[in-house]
Amino acid sequence: MSRIKIFTFNPFQENTYVLHSEKGNCIIVDPGCYDETERNRFLTYIRQNDLKPKRLINTHCHLDHIFGNAFIYEEFGLKPEFHQGELEMYSMQEYIARSYGLQISIGPKPEVFLRQDDYITLDEISLKLLFAPGHSAASLCLYDAVEGYVIAGDVLFRESIGRTDLPGGDYDTLISSIRRELLPLDDAIIVYSGHGPQTTIGHERRYNPFIS
Ligand SMILES: [Zn+2]
Repeated sequence: MSRIKIFTFNPFQENTYVLHSEKGNCIIVDPGCYDETERNRFLTYIRQNDLKPKRLINTHCHLDHIFGNAFIYEEFGLKPEFHQGELEMYSMQEYIARSYGLQISIGPKPEVFLRQDDYITLDEISLKLLFAPGHSAASLCLYDAVEGYVIAGDVLFRESIGRTDLPGGDYDTLISSIRRELLPLDDAIIVYSGHGPQTTIGHERRYNPFIS
């Protein structure tokens, strides 16, 4: 059984996920660590649990989800993996950071891109890639059918949805992505979002005003 560690990082209060396998390997999803204190918190956790980071995955490439990419590359030699449709967004983030008065060094580009309906596997972990554009041009959600959760990035939040006013965003596209990719999942599936608390598909089906 795999384990999930959640950090909340950076001025945007973004959730970073570390998925452990039984062997102590791990997948880092959306590393948002921004300053020295956050980077140290992250490293301390990895060291104390004797984890070996093997993959770096970005659900999408907004600033708050990639702040730590360069740092993860420096520490562990991992290049990011995301959908090719996010590459243009990725390349714009240094410029966008300045508009927020923030700094970012975005680190290396991917060597391989993730594709919808493929799987990311590591030891016993198997994540199906659900293509869910609308918040950004090519967001992916990571679905673990065995453990019963989906990492939703900024596609779906507890009783809310991702904003659609940023470049690459589109409200109707986002709603249809959620209906097509997430709502067919079982009620009990836990949703780990890019911001805020976790929820379940069943809770959102009933109480999310955007889709219920
Ligand atoms: Zn976002």
